[in-house]
Amino acid sequence: MKQHGERHEFASDNTAAICPEAMKALENANVNGAPSYGEDRWTARVCDRIRELFEADCDVYLVFNGTAANALALAQLCQSFQSVVCHEYSHIQTDECGAPEFFTKGSKLLLIGGANGKIDIGEAEAVIARQNELHSHKPYVISITQSTELGTAYTRDEIAAISEFARGRRLFLHMDGARFANAVAALNCPPKAITWEAGVHVLCLGGTKNGLAAGELVIFFKKELSSEFDYRLKQAGQLGSKMRFLAAPWLALLTDDVWLRNAQHANRIAHQLANRLQTEAKIDIVFPVEANAVFVRMNDQIMRDLHLRGWRFYKFIEPDVYRLMCSWSVTDQDISDFISDVATLNH
Ligand SMILES: *Cc1c(COP(=O)(O)O)cnc(C)c1O
Repeated sequence: MKQHGERHEFASDNTAAICPEAMKALENANVNGAPSYGEDRWTARVCDRIRELFEADCDVYLVFNGTAANALALAQLCQSFQSVVCHEYSHIQTDECGAPEFFTKGSKLLLIGGANGKIDIGEAEAVIARQNELHSHKPYVISITQSTELGTAYTRDEIAAISEFARGRRLFLHMDGARFANAVAALNCPPKAITWEAGVHVLCLGGTKNGLAAGELVIFFKKELSSEFDYRLKQAGQLGSKMRFLAAPWLALLTDDVWLRNAQHANRIAHQLANRLQTEAKIDIVFPVEANAVFVRMNDQIMRDLHLRGWRFYKFIEPDVYRLMCSWSVTDQDISDFISDVATLNH
């Protein structure tokens, strides 16, 4: 039960409300007698807007959440004896309860290290070189997360380098874009520059952490890869019968750059949080702050005291690295409240 005074602002970007634009769109779409199962005009317009935004004739599918988007996209790319190369901190490895393995019916995740949540190509090379004949799984996909689980963003050149590596070994490139908007905001580039232009085949594009109640998109930049994906979604329970209520708020995000403004705000707030933690509270920042996450090193005593003052957020890496996540909804006042508590405790 939620106790009085608990504050979950920094626990995740999904502790935020639905953003006002999405909420209004949901209300406006609340009419009787509309077509079901994605045959509605909101869904059609979301797909068109995505094609405009990415400047590509891509195939677009709406699913309920990011785990389904990732797992089903990977299942679409891989047979059961083929494997997915990904970072050891990737969400598909650490936070999806084996959904990628389950939906691919046996694909293995081949884990790669790398600084700041980004795949180290040399290490990927070495791991792939060990999977060289039919006694091992056949590497078939590289999955990268943008922005990464550690709050950094792959640059255009870094993605191009991974993509070139992938192309040389005939691997598909999948991007988990649960926080893709934050990466675009950080890099200030057109969406195509860090996706299909840089060799990404499939993007799972997050809406939930950007301000929706639910709903993620799976975008295939090569149409021949999406064959019968609609059947795969339906079988997995991911075909929304009232899809318009996922689509209408999505359309609001994609109108007047709400998606980008929400992400820019979250990134700005994270930078402010990091700067003030360093200068006013003498707290160490662990990874470069490029998107909307701030990773800090904090001792147990400060953590316990912050907890007593109501602040809720997670330890991410043992023994003492914590994640502070900033959403579109976090305010300058929230930052000031938090800094004031941390500074008091860490004097
Ligand atoms: C939140 C998140 C997802 C999606 O998670 P769901 O809870 O299934 O919606 C996927 N990838 C990353 C990196 C995430 O942070």
